[in-house]
Amino acid sequence: MSRNMQGLQPYLRVRPKLPTASPEERAFMNRALRLARYEQQRKANTVDRATNTLQRELNAAYLMRQRAIRATILPKLTKTEWEEIKVIYFHRCYYCLQPGKLTKDHVVPLSKGGQHTKSNIVPACQPCNSRKGNRPAERYRPFTN
Ligand SMILES: [Zn+2]
Repeated sequence: MSRNMQGLQPYLRVRPKLPTASPEERAFMNRALRLARYEQQRKANTVDRATNTLQRELNAAYLMRQRAIRATILPKLTKTEWEEIKVIYFHRCYYCLQPGKLTKDHVVPLSKGGQHTKSNIVPACQPCNSRKGNRPAERYRPFTN
Protein backbone atom coordinates (compact mmCIF):
# COMPACT_ATOMS: atom_id res chain seq x y z
CA MET A 1 0.00 0.00 0.00
CA SER A 2 1.36 3.41 -0.93
CA ARG A 3 2.14 6.03 1.75
CA ASN A 4 -0.70 8.17 0.48
CA MET A 5 -3.16 5.31 0.92
CA GLN A 6 -1.80 4.62 4.42
CA GLY A 7 -2.56 8.20 5.28
CA LEU A 8 -6.13 7.68 4.15
CA GLN A 9 -6.65 4.53 6.23
CA PRO A 10 -8.60 6.08 9.12
CA TYR A 11 -11.01 7.70 6.68
CA LEU A 12 -11.48 4.56 4.58
CA ARG A 13 -12.42 2.61 7.67
CA VAL A 14 -15.48 4.80 8.17
CA ARG A 15 -18.26 3.14 6.26
CA PRO A 16 -20.49 5.43 4.28
CA LYS A 17 -23.99 5.46 5.70
CA LEU A 18 -26.46 3.73 3.41
CA PRO A 19 -29.74 5.51 2.91
CA THR A 20 -32.21 3.87 5.23
CA ALA A 21 -35.15 2.14 3.70
CA SER A 22 -38.42 1.49 5.42
CA PRO A 23 -39.44 -2.16 5.94
CA GLU A 24 -42.00 -1.71 3.14
CA GLU A 25 -39.35 -0.37 0.77
CA ARG A 26 -36.99 -3.20 1.68
CA ALA A 27 -39.74 -5.78 1.11
CA PHE A 28 -40.51 -4.20 -2.24
CA MET A 29 -36.83 -4.26 -3.30
CA ASN A 30 -36.41 -7.86 -2.18
CA ARG A 31 -39.50 -8.87 -4.12
CA ALA A 32 -38.24 -7.07 -7.23
CA LEU A 33 -34.87 -8.82 -6.89
CA ARG A 34 -36.55 -12.21 -6.47
CA LEU A 35 -38.72 -11.63 -9.52
CA ALA A 36 -35.71 -10.54 -11.59
CA ARG A 37 -33.78 -13.64 -10.55
CA TYR A 38 -36.79 -15.86 -11.25
CA GLU A 39 -37.23 -14.28 -14.70
CA GLN A 40 -33.51 -14.80 -15.47
CA GLN A 41 -33.72 -18.46 -14.43
CA ARG A 42 -36.89 -19.01 -16.46
CA LYS A 43 -35.25 -17.56 -19.59
CA ALA A 44 -32.16 -19.75 -19.09
CA ASN A 45 -34.37 -22.83 -18.69
CA THR A 46 -36.36 -21.99 -21.81
CA VAL A 47 -33.16 -21.65 -23.84
CA ASP A 48 -31.84 -24.95 -22.39
CA ARG A 49 -35.05 -26.76 -23.26
CA ALA A 50 -35.05 -25.37 -26.80
CA THR A 51 -31.41 -26.39 -27.25
CA ASN A 52 -32.12 -29.88 -25.91
CA THR A 53 -35.11 -30.32 -28.23
CA LEU A 54 -33.08 -29.13 -31.19
CA GLN A 55 -30.22 -31.48 -30.26
CA ARG A 56 -32.62 -34.41 -29.92
CA GLU A 57 -34.14 -33.65 -33.32
CA LEU A 58 -30.70 -33.36 -34.91
CA ASN A 59 -29.66 -36.68 -33.37
CA ALA A 60 -32.84 -38.36 -34.61
CA ALA A 61 -32.32 -36.93 -38.11
CA TYR A 62 -28.70 -38.12 -38.08
CA LEU A 63 -29.74 -41.64 -37.03
CA MET A 64 -32.47 -41.76 -39.68
CA ARG A 65 -29.97 -40.69 -42.34
CA GLN A 66 -27.43 -43.29 -41.19
CA ARG A 67 -30.13 -45.98 -41.20
CA ALA A 68 -31.24 -44.96 -44.70
CA ILE A 69 -27.64 -45.05 -45.95
CA ARG A 70 -27.09 -48.47 -44.37
CA ALA A 71 -30.38 -49.83 -45.71
CA THR A 72 -29.41 -48.97 -49.28
CA ILE A 73 -25.79 -50.08 -49.11
CA LEU A 74 -25.50 -52.89 -46.59
CA PRO A 75 -26.95 -55.65 -48.79
CA LYS A 76 -23.97 -55.22 -51.15
CA LEU A 77 -21.63 -57.12 -48.83
CA THR A 78 -22.53 -60.64 -47.87
CA LYS A 79 -21.55 -62.37 -44.62
CA THR A 80 -19.39 -64.77 -46.63
CA GLU A 81 -17.55 -61.91 -48.32
CA TRP A 82 -16.83 -60.34 -44.93
CA GLU A 83 -15.45 -63.67 -43.69
CA GLU A 84 -13.30 -63.87 -46.85
CA ILE A 85 -11.96 -60.34 -46.24
CA LYS A 86 -10.96 -61.28 -42.69
CA VAL A 87 -9.15 -64.40 -43.97
CA ILE A 88 -7.28 -62.30 -46.55
CA TYR A 89 -6.01 -60.03 -43.75
CA PHE A 90 -5.23 -62.91 -41.35
CA HIS A 91 -7.97 -61.76 -38.95
CA ARG A 92 -5.90 -58.71 -38.10
CA CYS A 93 -6.48 -54.98 -38.23
CA TYR A 94 -5.51 -53.66 -41.66
CA TYR A 95 -3.87 -50.60 -40.06
CA CYS A 96 -2.13 -51.69 -36.83
CA LEU A 97 -2.02 -55.46 -37.55
CA GLN A 98 -3.43 -56.32 -34.12
CA PRO A 99 -5.70 -59.38 -33.88
CA GLY A 100 -9.00 -59.08 -32.04
CA LYS A 101 -12.52 -57.88 -32.60
CA LEU A 102 -12.68 -56.43 -36.11
CA THR A 103 -15.03 -53.87 -37.61
CA LYS A 104 -15.71 -53.14 -41.26
CA ASP A 105 -13.75 -50.12 -42.37
CA HIS A 106 -14.37 -48.38 -45.67
CA VAL A 107 -11.12 -47.59 -47.51
CA VAL A 108 -12.95 -44.77 -49.31
CA PRO A 109 -15.37 -43.51 -46.65
CA LEU A 110 -19.10 -43.75 -47.35
CA SER A 111 -19.33 -40.00 -46.84
CA LYS A 112 -16.83 -39.55 -49.69
CA GLY A 113 -18.78 -41.73 -52.08
CA GLY A 114 -17.17 -45.06 -51.13
CA GLN A 115 -19.22 -48.21 -51.58
CA HIS A 116 -20.14 -50.89 -49.07
CA THR A 117 -18.60 -53.59 -51.25
CA LYS A 118 -15.89 -56.19 -50.80
CA SER A 119 -13.28 -54.16 -52.72
CA ASN A 120 -13.78 -51.12 -50.46
CA ILE A 121 -13.81 -52.86 -47.08
CA VAL A 122 -10.92 -53.83 -44.86
CA PRO A 123 -10.98 -55.20 -41.31
CA ALA A 124 -10.04 -52.64 -38.66
CA CYS A 125 -9.93 -52.75 -34.89
CA GLN A 126 -12.35 -50.41 -33.12
CA PRO A 127 -9.66 -47.88 -32.05
CA CYS A 128 -8.25 -47.62 -35.59
CA ASN A 129 -11.72 -47.39 -37.12
CA SER A 130 -12.80 -44.54 -34.87
CA ARG A 131 -9.42 -42.72 -35.05
CA LYS A 132 -9.42 -42.94 -38.84
CA GLY A 133 -12.85 -41.30 -38.89
CA ASN A 134 -13.96 -40.32 -42.37
CA ARG A 135 -10.44 -40.07 -43.80
CA PRO A 136 -9.51 -42.19 -46.78
CA ALA A 137 -7.25 -45.11 -45.80
CA GLU A 138 -4.06 -43.54 -47.21
CA ARG A 139 -4.49 -40.51 -44.94
CA TYR A 140 -4.44 -42.62 -41.76
CA ARG A 141 -1.29 -43.76 -39.98
CA PRO A 142 -2.21 -45.81 -36.88
CA PHE A 143 0.94 -45.05 -34.90
CA THR A 144 1.19 -41.32 -35.51
CA ASN A 145 -2.41 -40.11 -35.77
ZN1 LIG B 1 -5.95 -51.22 -35.56
